[in-house]
Amino acid sequence: MLQRLAATQRRPAAAPLAAAVRCISSGSVDITVPLNFWAGRRRTSKEKCNKENVYEPATGRVLCHLEPCGAVEVDEAVESAKSAFGHWSKMSGMERARIMIEAAHIIESRRENIAEMEVVNNGKSITEARLDVDSARLCIEYYAGLACTLAGQHIQLPGGSFAYTRREPLGVCVGIGAWNYPFQIAAWKSAPALACGNSMVFKPSPVTPVTAVMLAEIYAEAGAPEGLLNVVQGGQETGSLLCHHPDVAKVSFTGSVSTGKKIMEMASKGVKPVTLELGGKSPLLIFQDSDLENAVRGALMANFLSQGQVCSNGTRVFVQKNILPEFVEEVVKRTQAIEIGDPLLESTRMGALVNQPHLEKGATVLCGGEPFVPSDHKLRGGYYMTPCVLGDCTDEMTCVKEEIFGPVMSVLSFETEEEVLHRANNTTMGLAAGVFTRDVMRAHRVVGHLKAGSCFINNYNITPVEVPFGGFKMSGIGRENGQVTVEHYSQLKTVFVEMGDVDCLF
Ligand code: NAD
Repeated sequence: MLQRLAATQRRPAAAPLAAAVRCISSGSVDITVPLNFWAGRRRTSKEKCNKENVYEPATGRVLCHLEPCGAVEVDEAVESAKSAFGHWSKMSGMERARIMIEAAHIIESRRENIAEMEVVNNGKSITEARLDVDSARLCIEYYAGLACTLAGQHIQLPGGSFAYTRREPLGVCVGIGAWNYPFQIAAWKSAPALACGNSMVFKPSPVTPVTAVMLAEIYAEAGAPEGLLNVVQGGQETGSLLCHHPDVAKVSFTGSVSTGKKIMEMASKGVKPVTLELGGKSPLLIFQDSDLENAVRGALMANFLSQGQVCSNGTRVFVQKNILPEFVEEVVKRTQAIEIGDPLLESTRMGALVNQPHLEKGATVLCGGEPFVPSDHKLRGGYYMTPCVLGDCTDEMTCVKEEIFGPVMSVLSFETEEEVLHRANNTTMGLAAGVFTRDVMRAHRVVGHLKAGSCFINNYNITPVEVPFGGFKMSGIGRENGQVTVEHYSQLKTVFVEMGDVDCLF
C-alpha cells in the first residue's frame, strides 16, 4: 500500500500530515508538498531547476526533492519573520506562553506521525524518534514556563534616582541545523528564541528537510502570528545568505566544527552573536571500582544512540586495566545482540545510517563495522552497518582522535587516574565526558578536572531540557536548554531615571 503525503492545500487543524506506516517495507511515504514555509504557509522556491534528491536511509530510495532557497526566498522569509516580530515581541510572556503550550499539545497529539516522518527521513529507530519528539515538546513547554519569568532589576541610585533593566528580544534569529536530530534541533532552537520574544528563520540540513516544516505549521496552528517560525531549505549557499542578511540579529548553529568556524566568521561581519553547538570526541572513563553492568550499559548508550551519530557520544572509552578483559567481553556480547534493521519496527534498536561511514585501520575490530544487508529485499538499498567495537586502541590513532559520527566505539586501557585525566583532556574538543565509579569523591574530583561542557557521573547521553547543554573548547560557544539560554536570546537594556536636577559639570 502506498501512503501519500501529497496535499498541497492546508489541512484542517490537528489532522496528521501522513497516514501512519508500521514498517518501512509495508508501504512507501511520498512527500510532494513544498518544504519551505514562510508567512504562514508552505512555499515553492524559484530555484526549482536546482532541486536536489532527498533519500530515505532505510531503503536508499528517493523520498522527495528539495528546492533550495536563493536570495529572493531568503529575503521573503526574513521579511515575514520581521513582520511577526512586530506583533510577537509586544505580547506579554503569558500570552506567548499560551501559544507555545498549545503548540506542545499539538505535538503530543501528533507524536506518532512526526516520529514516523523522522524515521523515514533520518533512518533512526522509531523508539528513539519518539523520544526526540518528546524532547522537542518538553523543550517548548519548559520555555513557555520561562516566558513569563523574564524580568529585569531595579537599582537604587543616590538622591532617589534609580535605574532599571529590561530584558528585550534580539529580533529575527536564524537557526541552522544538522541532520541527526532534525525535529528536536528545530525545537531546541526555536523554543528559547520565541519565549524571549524573537522570531526565527530556520534552515534544516538538506539531508533531512522534512520535519522542521511540520514544526513551523504547528506553531501557526497554535495561533502564532504569521511568520513567527519560517523554514527555508538549502545547503551552504542558503545558510550563508541567512548569516550575512542585514536584518538577522543572531545565528544559532548546530553542526561540524569546520562549518561552525565559517558561521562565526560570517556573523562577525555584522557583529552578530552566535550560539555554536559543534562536534566532539568525548571520553568515557570507567574505573575498576565501578558497577560493571552499569558501566557496560553506559558505554552502549554513549556510543550507539542514533546509529552512533550523536555529537556528545563518548567514543573514547577508557577502561582501567584490571577490568578491561571482563568489560570487553560483555560490551562485545551486548553490541552483537543489538537488533539492526527496519527502523519503523518496534523491535529495531539500530536503524540506518544517513551516509556511508569510514572505518580506521590499525585497531583490532572486536565486532561489527561491516555493511549489514537486511533480509527484507525492500531494505537492501538502505545504509546499514553493524555497530563496531575497536579494541587495542591508542591515543594516536585517527579513530581515537577524529569524530567518526557512526556506531564505532574505541576502547582504550589506562592505569591511573592522573594518567587518564591527562589523556581524556588531550583533545581540541570538549563537548561531553563521563565517569563510572562507585567512589563518590573520585567521581567529583575527576569531573572537576575534565574539560567538557557536559559531564555525566554513572550515566551517559541524557539531555533533560531543564539542564544547559553545550561545549568547551572547539565544541562550541553558548548553551542550549536550561535557564541560561534566555541570556543568549535576549539583550539587556538599562534605563536611568533622574529624580532631581542634572548634576551639570559645565
Ligand atoms: P555540517 O556542519 O555539515 O552542516 C550543518 C548545517 O550547516 C547544515 O544545515 C548545512 O547545510 C549548513 N551549512 C554547511 N555549510 C554552511 C555554510 N558555509 N554556511 C551556512 N550554513 C552551512 O554538519 P552535519 O554533517 O549536518 O552534522 C554533523 C555534525 O554536527 C557533527 O560534527 C556533529 O558532532 C555536529 N552536531 C553537534 C551537535 C551539538 O549539539 N553540539 C548536535 C548535532 C550534531
